[in-house]
Amino acid sequence: MNESRGTCVWANQVVVNRTVEYYSGRRGSIIIAPRGKMNIFFDMDYTIIEIDFGGLRPGVKEVFERLRAEGHTLYIWSGAGIRTEEVELLGLQDTVSGVFQKPWERYEKAVNDMLTRNEIPVLPDLVVDDTSAIVTALGGVVVQPYGVRIHNDHDMEQVYRIISEYASDGHSIDSAFRPKPPYAAHGG
Ligand SMILES: [Mg+2]
Repeated sequence: MNESRGTCVWANQVVVNRTVEYYSGRRGSIIIAPRGKMNIFFDMDYTIIEIDFGGLRPGVKEVFERLRAEGHTLYIWSGAGIRTEEVELLGLQDTVSGVFQKPWERYEKAVNDMLTRNEIPVLPDLVVDDTSAIVTALGGVVVQPYGVRIHNDHDMEQVYRIISEYASDGHSIDSAFRPKPPYAAHGG
């Protein structure tokens, strides 16, 4: 790999107006640089709530508030539908900027189609989900499915730590992190 220096434009159109390191590979450039403020999409069932009683995962509200305070924009989506009423019942309406239907398959095409149809206002920079397929497709953090019998669940702290690392360093070495694949990185 060759190491060189330069400036670049991200998929989200934010110009990184300073010197960054990047590495050129055969499939293009894998760029490691600060990602700044991001649009983060959270799954609902088993990610932020357990399903039988609908209880919030420990730390959800606190982590949402911290991420928002740091300038990130948070959204909730669910494969089971647009669950605005439940989000309000959970008291999360002030920390999220939208509630949407989550696609079931062909995730990258689906989110681009949804953006075209104005069903989502932005493309996800990161997704947080207990289903690894969507995280692998779009980039983000895989969480263990949350159930009411799980005690001492610290996954939201792990989510926060990974997002913070990614926002500041452009990557995370945590095994729950999935980088954006190259095609998704150019999808803005
Ligand atoms: Mg889920």
